[in-house]
Amino acid sequence: MSVLAMKFGGTSVGSSAAIGMLCQIVHDQKTQWDNVAVVVSAMSGVTDILINGANAAARGDKASAHASADALRSRHITTLHELAGETPESAAIAQQIGALISEYELLIQAVGVLGEASPRALDAIASLGERMSVRLVAAALQAKGTPAQAIDANTVVLTTAEFGNGAPIYPQTRDQIQAAILPLFAQGITPVITGFIGATASGAITTLGRGGSDYSGAIFGEALDADEVDIYTDVDGVMTTDPRLVKHAKVLNHLSYAEMSELAYFGAKVLHPKTIRPVIERGIPIRIRNTFNPSHLGTLVTRVSEPTTHAIRAVTVIRNMNLITVEGRGMIGVQGVAARTFSAVAHAGANVLMISQASSEQSICFVIPNQSTASVITELEQSLKHELERGDIDRVKSRDEVVIVTVVGVGIHERPGVAAKVFSAIAEASVNILVIAQGSSECSISIVVAASDGDIAVKALHELALA
Ligand code: ADP
Ligand code: ASP
Ligand code: MG
Repeated sequence: MSVLAMKFGGTSVGSSAAIGMLCQIVHDQKTQWDNVAVVVSAMSGVTDILINGANAAARGDKASAHASADALRSRHITTLHELAGETPESAAIAQQIGALISEYELLIQAVGVLGEASPRALDAIASLGERMSVRLVAAALQAKGTPAQAIDANTVVLTTAEFGNGAPIYPQTRDQIQAAILPLFAQGITPVITGFIGATASGAITTLGRGGSDYSGAIFGEALDADEVDIYTDVDGVMTTDPRLVKHAKVLNHLSYAEMSELAYFGAKVLHPKTIRPVIERGIPIRIRNTFNPSHLGTLVTRVSEPTTHAIRAVTVIRNMNLITVEGRGMIGVQGVAARTFSAVAHAGANVLMISQASSEQSICFVIPNQSTASVITELEQSLKHELERGDIDRVKSRDEVVIVTVVGVGIHERPGVAAKVFSAIAEASVNILVIAQGSSECSISIVVAASDGDIAVKALHELALA
């Protein structure tokens, strides 16, 4: 039995026209595969509206919070009517969507009373976007003659209790997915599953992190032994860089898992960085393709990349970063400075994106998101207090507003002279490099530059991916 798992992102379910395209794609794919599972995101912008509504409620701004409920209700109900007409069946779906909006109103009211939106409350609130969109999409498929059923992933994806960053727990998740979905396959019904969400063992709804519906697509694909996972989005595939930044960026036909992971980790928003994890072991191919240009075959991602003359395949950028440096001549030989530095960072709950230590051991520097800076500096000054007092460490420095620019390609470390080309391209663009690091998977080189130089650096390096 062949199985295709398909994931449709926010813009792909963002309007009745888009959902109409989705229905046609699902209909066409059903003629090619024995079984098709569909995972969907919330309608474009809905997750942000829900979260902003919760934060407004926490600040006591009831009016904005309630206005967002009204806007969400009318957008979903209008789209439902455009797709499925005003029939008894669509009235039942409208009622379910209405109940989810009422749940939202209750949750924001509770947040308003507490004056705080906890991570747990935020996840319950953010989950509503996908819980509404699956009902809409299933109704649209039904109305167009494709039997479909909405599935809330919190009933099958068991996660850790890390709200905002839940991790699926196996084998329960796989078993529960199979128990829920295989009977639908047997009846020829297409499941339409919420991306982005799961639940803890006690039933509290979690999310897998922003942009996490891609990850859900792979989790379901793996659990259903899919032959392929297709990620439908609003561009023709993974491109040599973000097409919003460089208009002449080109679609890449084929990437390896390692290249894709590196691209996603270093900021290519087109795929969530965890998406590769569930599929890599069994080697399930992922294909990134365009809902609005379905005849394009998109980008295939498998174990091995295509043969190419380009060592550098793509360029990414991660913005809003901060460079922290711990430095001092007395650091040489002081036991455990690096260990204490990073345990302080971990204690502050910060995510370290890149680390670089000078060979002279006189400094350690690393890159963290802007919003973690204040707590990281406080923790570091606390944990390195003695060294700072003794003068073994001169200072803990922070440089605000930096970006990480990364070039990715399996050939980067196999071919001589690639690093030299990167540095001369950057020098020719008159950009000053603050830090250099090589990716652990050995298919990337990252540089840290001032935020104001970010776009110039991306554009200069992108020419190497095209050359
Ligand atoms: P979806 O809602 O379908 O998940 P996203 O907005 O999360 O879509 O991701 C698609 C977007 O990712 C594209 O519109 C594009 O602007 C951006 N993007 C960033 N880097 C790349 C890249 N290297 N290739 C393609 N798209 C990219
Ligand atoms: N709707 C969620 C978000 O906006 C998940 C996703 O779209 O992938 O983050
Ligand atoms: Mg996305």
